[in-house]
Amino acid sequence: MAEISKMLPGYNCGECGHRQCKDYAEEISKKGDISKCHYLELERFIDTKAEIQQFLSTHIAALDKVEDLPLACQGCGEGITGLKGDRKADFSLGPIPGEPSCREDLYPFARSMDIEPGDVLRYRALGCPVIHFARVMKYIQGIATVHLAGPHQLLSDEFQYKDVGICMVTGFEGSVNKGRIPDVGETVKFLPSHCRMQQVHSGVIVHSEGSKLRIEGIDLKIWR
Ligand code: SF4
Repeated sequence: MAEISKMLPGYNCGECGHRQCKDYAEEISKKGDISKCHYLELERFIDTKAEIQQFLSTHIAALDKVEDLPLACQGCGEGITGLKGDRKADFSLGPIPGEPSCREDLYPFARSMDIEPGDVLRYRALGCPVIHFARVMKYIQGIATVHLAGPHQLLSDEFQYKDVGICMVTGFEGSVNKGRIPDVGETVKFLPSHCRMQQVHSGVIVHSEGSKLRIEGIDLKIWR
């Protein structure tokens, strides 16, 4: 099963109904069905899909052991490093106490959308390959403030969503749960603790109140 897990895209996006790729790998190892990961239909994963199919055709009966992928920082370990490229972050950003995830501000490029508090949005953030699902807190002047939620967290609800396509992520708001608390005006590298790819983001601190921060000018490119 670990072999299948390593071959899957590694986005941990939840679209297949599992929290992480390794969980879907376990299902694949039992059922042999790889159709739930839509990324495998993309051209860049054609070879990967063929490799998995080849692997299943010869190994599926022997696969019975789960091995973990390398652990990403969960805001409680040592060091704050993204999974991609070993990038170091200044801090990990978790939810404001009492909230399910840190807040994201989204600017959907599809301007005609009818968005209301409580809606679930399906979108891809500009610069990120992963499809996200999030619940709207408020929608003011074209900006939707959302809490991230994977499909697996929404399955108990009547799971309906509005597909808003590509969005610019204009801001994050949350609490530092590991690392140093930066000053207002500082350009920082941070790891949103809900990020399935464990990707280090960059941005500028525009508000600080204890460990609670607002970060704008969000970028997934980290300049070295
Ligand atoms: S759909 Fe997402 S979580 Fe599921 S296997 Fe594919 S990349 Fe991984």
